Amino acid sequence: MSPRRTARCPRCQQPVRLDTSSFPFCSKRCRLIDLGKWFNEEYRVEKEEREWIEGEPHAKAQSRRERSRGE
Ligand SMILES: [Zn+2]
Repeated sequence: MSPRRTARCPRCQQPVRLDTSSFPFCSKRCRLIDLGKWFNEEYRVEKEEREWIEGEPHAKAQSRRERSRGE
């Protein structure tokens, strides 16, 4: 077994063959878990950003209403 032909699964650190269809993960399960982890992290960031942005349209709508009332 040459070290060139194997890598370690980023998820469970098990040796993975380079010809594995789920490379660089040892299995589809590990790949899905890792993708899910990324998805959760992205979702969390997106949610925080959305909460932060949600404050703006409200303020914008308010200022727009004030402006139309002034015209
Ligand atoms: Zn794995």
